[in-house]
Amino acid sequence: MTIAIIGAGIAGAICASELVRNGHKVIVFDKGRSAGGRMSSKRTENGYIDLGAQYFTARSELFSQQCITWQAHGVIMPWQAKLAVYENAELTASPDNIVRYIGQPSMHKPVQQLLQQTQLVLECCVDRIHFDGKHWRLYRDQQPLGSFSQLVLAIPQQQAALLLANVISQFNVLAAAFAAAALQPCWAVNVALHQPSGNNFDGISVKEDAALTWLARQTAKQGRVTTEQWLLHFSPTFSQQQLDTSAEQMALASLSQLQRILGQQLQGTVTHCHRWRYAQQTSDYPIQGYLHHADMALALCGDWLNGGRVENAWLSGYMLAQQLSV
Ligand code: FAD
Repeated sequence: MTIAIIGAGIAGAICASELVRNGHKVIVFDKGRSAGGRMSSKRTENGYIDLGAQYFTARSELFSQQCITWQAHGVIMPWQAKLAVYENAELTASPDNIVRYIGQPSMHKPVQQLLQQTQLVLECCVDRIHFDGKHWRLYRDQQPLGSFSQLVLAIPQQQAALLLANVISQFNVLAAAFAAAALQPCWAVNVALHQPSGNNFDGISVKEDAALTWLARQTAKQGRVTTEQWLLHFSPTFSQQQLDTSAEQMALASLSQLQRILGQQLQGTVTHCHRWRYAQQTSDYPIQGYLHHADMALALCGDWLNGGRVENAWLSGYMLAQQLSV
């Protein structure tokens, strides 16, 4: 059977890789210019900047094994970051023993590594799907993309809901899943400093703050920019409130936010502003792993079904591939 997977993020990539390993014919479609989804880095003339996931951890045995393989391929490495917490207007060192990984030289490298043996169609936004009782037909701008005996949606919940708008009402379980698990937005803004700040921290977790959740010195990651640049992640509440704010206005707000956290006057230029409409899950949505409707030849995987984060997205895609290979 030929399986169509929509979404070449980490969940779709491991699902595809496992299905191919188990002898299936798979085609992956993604609307992006490269695979990776929210494991996203922008290339600049000075090195990469990570706009989405900043690092990932491995808590399960399965994903730890994957990380060992990726390290052997040279597509990830541990990130030995000097971490701090910003709380009650104070910046305090917060060392721990957690192993954090980053893609090498960019966050999407491990995703690309998984897709090496898979047919991948990029810059292809699937905007209509139709099930005729036996096969799924996929379309982009009215143009058919093919007919498939199994469809996997490895895309954020809100985007899956749009594609399945005609189908959802027939499946209570889908409707319930979609109602509960909205992903929250996040503005990501990168500031290049004109002079070194002298600050020694590499990653700062911002606690109980109205505006920010996280800052990372991109220079502290191998493969990234070489002059001091800070990536700011704005909080879900703030990002929701500013969802329709222009990138120019977000840029104006960002230097003063960086100054507030680092506690010093700074000169800098905003180089990138990216609005993630569907960034991370913050609700207590029950973990289901994945969804599979054999009678509809339809399955869904992704972080939103498995607790959020890179590791859980990977596990979701991995577990779904084992189920489809039975
Ligand atoms: P995605 O990565 O979203 O992949 C879905 C893919 O589907 C995308 O490539 C998209 O282009 C494609 N797509 C969608 N609709 C269509 C369509 N109609 N047609 C074709 N293609 C389509 N996780 C961590 O573990 N640690 C972190 O530090 C961390 N920080 C984060 C910070 C931010 C700002 C964001 C946004 C996320 C962060 N995450 C973090 C979460 C992590 O990035 C995600 O959990 C994980 O990457 C999700 O993978 P996925 O495969 O489920 O979905």
